[in-house]
Amino acid sequence: MVDPEPGHERFRGFLALPYLGKDGQALSQRFRCIQEHDHRAFGHGKYMSMTDEPSRVFNIRGIHQADSTISVTEGEFDAITLSMAGLPAVAIPGATGWRSHHRRMLAGFNRVFVWGDPDDAGADFVRKVTQSLRSAKGVRLRDGDVNETYLAGGAEALHALIDEGSV
Ligand SMILES: [Zn+2]
Repeated sequence: MVDPEPGHERFRGFLALPYLGKDGQALSQRFRCIQEHDHRAFGHGKYMSMTDEPSRVFNIRGIHQADSTISVTEGEFDAITLSMAGLPAVAIPGATGWRSHHRRMLAGFNRVFVWGDPDDAGADFVRKVTQSLRSAKGVRLRDGDVNETYLAGGAEALHALIDEGSV
């Protein structure tokens, strides 16, 4: 593990999620606690943003890798998993992170697949994005979130969800 940069000491031991621009330059990072404990009891959340950071898009590179179709997730790991499965993806961190400027960024795509977790927050995320973007369609995850679906059925299971039509 590398030594934290100045100002990041409070995130020591956490997993850093780098937010890179299209040329790979570092824009920001978020952090994920990798301990299996009650994060609140330790005074932090499972995911943490740096203070005073705007809501950014994770994996901007996915926008440039994508053709006419792109996927949007609410978690960084979901976007990484979809990208590995051959589905270029960006993440809007957290189910409540959607902002109007994200719409402009995705406006050029013919189809935007929205992957929300199969829970209330996920449904809310899908609703927000699909209401704000005409090209957006929700993907109906049934067997857990993107990562769980991938672990259970591989890339095929993810592609099948898109192929069978979306909500
Ligand atoms: Zn923790």
